[in-house]
Amino acid sequence: MANTKKYGFSTRAIHIGEEPDFREGGTGDVVIPIHLSTTFARKKVDEPTAGYEYTRSLNPTRNALETKLASLENGRYGFAFSSGLAAESTILLSLVKPGDHIVAFDDLYGGTKRLINQVFGNFVFEVSYVNAVDPKNVEEAIKENTKLVWLESPTNPLLKLSDITAISRITQKHGIVLVVDNTFLSPYFQKPLDLGADVVVHSSTKYIGGHSDVLGGSVMVDNEELFKKIQYHQNSVGAVLSPFDSYLTLRGIKTLALRMERHQGNALTIARYLEKHPKVIRVIYPGLESHPQHALAKAQTAGFGGVLSFEIVGTIDDAKVFLEKLQLFALAESLGGVESLIELPAAMTHSSVSREVREKIGISDTLVRVSVGIEDVEDLIADLEQALG
Ligand SMILES: *Cc1c(COP(=O)(O)O)cnc(C)c1O
Repeated sequence: MANTKKYGFSTRAIHIGEEPDFREGGTGDVVIPIHLSTTFARKKVDEPTAGYEYTRSLNPTRNALETKLASLENGRYGFAFSSGLAAESTILLSLVKPGDHIVAFDDLYGGTKRLINQVFGNFVFEVSYVNAVDPKNVEEAIKENTKLVWLESPTNPLLKLSDITAISRITQKHGIVLVVDNTFLSPYFQKPLDLGADVVVHSSTKYIGGHSDVLGGSVMVDNEELFKKIQYHQNSVGAVLSPFDSYLTLRGIKTLALRMERHQGNALTIARYLEKHPKVIRVIYPGLESHPQHALAKAQTAGFGGVLSFEIVGTIDDAKVFLEKLQLFALAESLGGVESLIELPAAMTHSSVSREVREKIGISDTLVRVSVGIEDVEDLIADLEQALG
């Protein structure tokens, strides 16, 4: 299956990287085996068997996943890491040097901000946070030593978008690498490499794995030079995905398209239901006409995903009562699994952000974030109805 682009998304999600092995001694498995071996024997000193030497460098099960991941983002190269943050750390170690500067969206995932600010920021590189909703702000922040621009679109929990094509024109003009965290939409709905990004990163813990049972991170690139730098650092740093977790992720990916369609269908139905509810002040979902960047979402993505946020009438205590009354929505952080999850950013994911800053960026005390699962939507709405009542 050399020319993978001739196949559709689901065909690739199922077949790429897992072609049956018909070579002598091959057994024709339609699912890649879990290769647990950490080392691989060779017959001749100078000839590693099929290129395999040691699992940190290359493992057949992880390699199958990496091949599939690359294909789904329309890139030539893919990498599987032990978590999203392991993937992000490796990107930063590969592409940024002491004394460099990076520009980042001011509404990034909290763990990414912690990594940039606390782990790297103070002694490795300098960072400017900008509101990337307006590409002009990105361009204005670029300096002589800027090496990288880091975006997330849509963001969490306010679902702000950045115009990836417009920003990629700016980064290309300045010879800067553009990294896009595509966790919230998955490659099924958004392909940043096609929009001009250089590096795509995911927490595959979320939609790619899809079942809330495996942590992982993935990186996809099309440029060979970037591939070589990241490959060198993936092996040198060593935060690779295990063979068993690679298998679980491969298993999850096969239904990615089906899941994303259902996540989105349920999310849109719930968003429209909430929009009309008297106890709801506002609903934030890129698929609603009321979202300020609905037109950009329609132009840039093939869908709007399964995460929405809404603000309810009342105080933080009212919000807590509502959340604790829910039966089907698990009160939990994270997103992207088959089960619906709900959380209160002010008290959970964003509790470390001061109240003033939260209010300034739009995270009020009663803003609720939902990762809509793939259950029967009537059951989800009935649960929201009783808890809002
Ligand atoms: C969860 C998440 C991460 C971090 O990934 P882990 O797998 O938890 O390390 C990064 N970016 C986004 C947008 C996320 O949602």
